[in-house]
Amino acid sequence: MELVPIDIPIEFLQVLPDGIKLVSRRGHPYLVLEKAEDKNGNSIIDETVRIHGEPSVKLRAKVGGEEGFLFVDAYWGSHAKLYSFIPDFSGGGTVEATSPVDGSSLMVPWECPIDGCDEKHGILLTLPGGQNSIIVCGKLGCPGHLIKVTRAAEGISESISNINYFGHGEEDPFSGF
Ligand SMILES: [Zn+2]
Repeated sequence: MELVPIDIPIEFLQVLPDGIKLVSRRGHPYLVLEKAEDKNGNSIIDETVRIHGEPSVKLRAKVGGEEGFLFVDAYWGSHAKLYSFIPDFSGGGTVEATSPVDGSSLMVPWECPIDGCDEKHGILLTLPGGQNSIIVCGKLGCPGHLIKVTRAAEGISESISNINYFGHGEEDPFSGF
């Protein structure tokens, strides 16, 4: 399936929070997470493991009976991931994520808005300054995510949260890079 970029609201670009940058690929704008922290302010961005050419978000993750590191694509709306282990989906595929720096929990209560997903846990990625954050659904494979930007007007955060560039199972639009 062809990539169909979604317009990013100008109102959001005017209040683009620290930690999120705008990049252009093939003439289309994309939001990329360039800074993310655990609850204690430690950076969880890994410069050495890159996905789509950008540093990834590194989590310590336990899935079922297996655990290791999980690297998440920093492109907003992408759900590409790399694993240092083989996730055990027998328990439903919910991730227990902790900071790779200090081991603190990244999990928060969350009601996933995606149809068919009943996940009650989300992974909290804190943006610099601690005021803004991103929550990713704790169920592997679920595209559910939410951005909370304190300065953004009502509705803007919601429309950004609804951006999903790459639907589940669609062709990777960056395959030519
Ligand atoms: Zn979900």
